[in-house]
Amino acid sequence: AKAASRNTVRFFDPAMESVMMVRAALERDLRQALEEHQFVLHYQAQVAGDYHLTGAEVLVRWQHPQRGMVWPDDFIPAAEETGLILPLGHWVLQTACTQLTIWAARPETADLTVAVNVSAQQFRQPDFVAQVLAVLAATGANPQRLKLELTESLLVSNVQDLIEKMAALKAKGVGFSLDDFGTGFSSLSYLKRLPLDQLKIDKSFVRDVLTDPNDAAIAKTIIALAQSLALGVIAEGVETSAQRDFLAQAGCQAYQGYFFSRPVPLEDFEQLCAAGLRA
Ligand code: C2E
Ligand code: CA
Ligand code: CA
Ligand code: CA
Repeated sequence: AKAASRNTVRFFDPAMESVMMVRAALERDLRQALEEHQFVLHYQAQVAGDYHLTGAEVLVRWQHPQRGMVWPDDFIPAAEETGLILPLGHWVLQTACTQLTIWAARPETADLTVAVNVSAQQFRQPDFVAQVLAVLAATGANPQRLKLELTESLLVSNVQDLIEKMAALKAKGVGFSLDDFGTGFSSLSYLKRLPLDQLKIDKSFVRDVLTDPNDAAIAKTIIALAQSLALGVIAEGVETSAQRDFLAQAGCQAYQGYFFSRPVPLEDFEQLCAAGLRA
């Protein structure tokens, strides 16, 4: 063991050193981005049945002054490691709820829901429930129109705490969707204990649903499972009408994906609301 530790060259490994420098620079940039309001939300339509727009999932983007638009897969992991996901997540929630209140005042958007991604670290904050309630109160948003998307990574620790927080928010009308369903390690026995409203079929199962019998079987099984637990089900990553039709045939009633709309800036999403999804 001693020899091994003497041979540890971690801090002098140029590749590793550059990884660490990149990470440190990224952390510095993220802090600055929060202060300078470089984050924006894009809105992706959620659709029921035949092209009826029911709401939007908000997806964060980083408008970096030098690098241009940065996608969440390239900064959310670093934001989680540095804890910056907490202020970022709060900003996302606040912006989404502010938008809900603006939409509530206009007839063509009054019924829309907004789905917000919540990282496990954010949800595990002891005062998470109080934070959400404070944002709802401050923005005047209707809790019935807010959906929080959680992932199965929350199920690896303290499920009782998870259930209590969900129940407290659900009592106020907030809805819950289980994101990326089927990709994690959740035990099916938890599913009936969690006060969920909806399962979200991960796009990795939707992509090849027409050509891969395993993916087709998984998608059908998730839909049947949702039905038997009296949960809603939404499929993400729907890119073609054939995928939509297959899922509809299997009993799915809500969709999200490029076939309907890509995630778009607010102005474009509002145009979609005014014009309808299919002319
Ligand atoms: P997610 O929550 O699973 O979001 C779905 C991702 O699939 C989004 O990627 C979306 O743009 C993409 N997508 C939507 N429709 C299609 C389609 O038809 N085909 C394909 N191939 N992709 C589609 P995006 O925007 O890059 O976000 C990636 C991930 O970053 C999200 O995955 C979510 O986990 C995370 N994320 C995004 N915004 C937030 C946020 O505000 N807070 C947190 N904690 N995480 C976020
Ligand atoms: Ca999501
Ligand atoms: Ca997903
Ligand atoms: Ca596959």
